[in-house]
Amino acid sequence: NPQASSNLRPESARLYEEAQRHIVGGVNSPSRSFKAVGGGAPVFMQRAEGAYFWDVDGNRYLDYLAAFGPIITGHAHPHVTSAIVRAAQNGTLYGTPTEGEVTLARMLKEAIPSLDKVRFVNSGTEAVMTTIRVARAATGRNKIVKFAGCYHGHSDLVLVAAGSGPSTLGIPDSAGIPVSIASEVITVPFNDTEGLRLALEAWGDDVAAVMIEPIVGNFGMVMPKSGFLEDVCRMTRAAGALVIYDEVITAFRFHYGTTQTYAAAFADFAAIEPDLTALGKIIGGGLPIGAYGGRAEIMAQVAPLGPAYQAGTMAGNPASIAAGIACLEVLREPGVYARMEALGTRLADGLRESAERHGVPLTVNRIAGAISTHFCDHPVTNYDEAQDTDGERFAAFFREMLSRGIYLAPSKYEAWFLTTAHTDADIDRTLEAAEESFKSIR
Ligand code: PMP
Repeated sequence: NPQASSNLRPESARLYEEAQRHIVGGVNSPSRSFKAVGGGAPVFMQRAEGAYFWDVDGNRYLDYLAAFGPIITGHAHPHVTSAIVRAAQNGTLYGTPTEGEVTLARMLKEAIPSLDKVRFVNSGTEAVMTTIRVARAATGRNKIVKFAGCYHGHSDLVLVAAGSGPSTLGIPDSAGIPVSIASEVITVPFNDTEGLRLALEAWGDDVAAVMIEPIVGNFGMVMPKSGFLEDVCRMTRAAGALVIYDEVITAFRFHYGTTQTYAAAFADFAAIEPDLTALGKIIGGGLPIGAYGGRAEIMAQVAPLGPAYQAGTMAGNPASIAAGIACLEVLREPGVYARMEALGTRLADGLRESAERHGVPLTVNRIAGAISTHFCDHPVTNYDEAQDTDGERFAAFFREMLSRGIYLAPSKYEAWFLTTAHTDADIDRTLEAAEESFKSIR
């Protein structure tokens, strides 16, 4: 009985009580709340190691959240942890440049050919926000095209038809954003070339950039249809606008690189070089980070070279940089991604078979070691299809899995992420829990 399981978390319940008195909604990011999965106290975690974390009541969970993406080497990976400790012992912040920043920038450039120049910031939100400013500075235009259901952080311009947390909580168009700003954003369905064509036909001369998650991670995992990214890039450039890839989730998630290099190596779409790329999550190895970069002449807009201002007291802080370098060093080892992909395949296939055995309609999307589960009987290739799924059933499934020690993101829109720490035994354990969970929610 999953309801009874909340009795196994009295300390989480107590902390949530108190948290709500001090912290708005009791959480420091709305996507952590359990509002969309039946409410109640979220689980307060205390420590984590490898593929597992433990809550304040001593319960252990197998982690598929991976902190919404960054934790790809598993928790407290010794190589990453010791890099952080060494950095902290040398002082956490100088307000001067450091060698580590140069190293991490070089590593990113080696992995992502479209980056001539990069700049480190503190979050994916900042990275995306700044790519928009740079694109506007470079083109002298104001409007942005985004795709429905893609999430690009919480800056004003991109909280329109936003997936992920905003959709989970039923507020894809945030309050507090002036109409004058929202009117600078044009939203087009993902995988809809004709929709983009119409948008660019109507507003093309005013469009500074087309912003896209080239592989979607924020209304489930969704691949671009064959030819879609080529169309996006061709049409955007024909309109004199810039292409911005938001790879905050996708960079280093499926292989050692971004969609651009993943496409060339593994997928059936062409490798397209975006003009600007936003990065975050994995490149900080679990500490706060973001980065953006692109073609040298566009990046030359940024101060101190150019007139577009962007700055940060904490930007490029030594601990985040050290963790990022260490994380990429782990990911660079041969076989790392092949293992996550193999486990992801087993997990996705197993979930499909299990759901089918119990007559639960389920669409599982998988890209390498990332999957998403949609309670529906149709494919999920865009935001409308992702919305048109059974949220209550997802919530029931989430609670059943949680009661069996499997921690999923508390949202039907979020992915399950594998890490280098997950094992075949973990997949077995997950599929056993799923089998029982599907049985009890059918
Ligand atoms: N872009 C994408 C694609 C994201 O998934 C996210 C966060 N989930 C962001 C931007 C914002 O990143 P952050 O939460 O670090 O601000």
